[in-house]
Amino acid sequence: MAKCSFCGKEEMMAYRCSYCEKQFCAAHRLPENHECTGVEAGKKIVKKKAIEPDKKKSTFTYSNEDDFID
Ligand SMILES: [Zn+2]
Ligand SMILES: [Zn+2]
Repeated sequence: MAKCSFCGKEEMMAYRCSYCEKQFCAAHRLPENHECTGVEAGKKIVKKKAIEPDKKKSTFTYSNEDDFID
């Protein structure tokens, strides 16, 4: 029987994370649910690249959205 690497629960059908290659129960199989170390590095790079140009754009183009958020 496999054990969840996050909560330690014994799981008949453990899921294996393709990012960190550890085994998890159904509740923790998703990277965001087990603080996946494998996906973090890639996520940070993608997020930074995606957010920075978007923010600049939104201040120029979507002035209505800024009012709504405030
Ligand atoms: Zn678990
Ligand atoms: Zn993982």
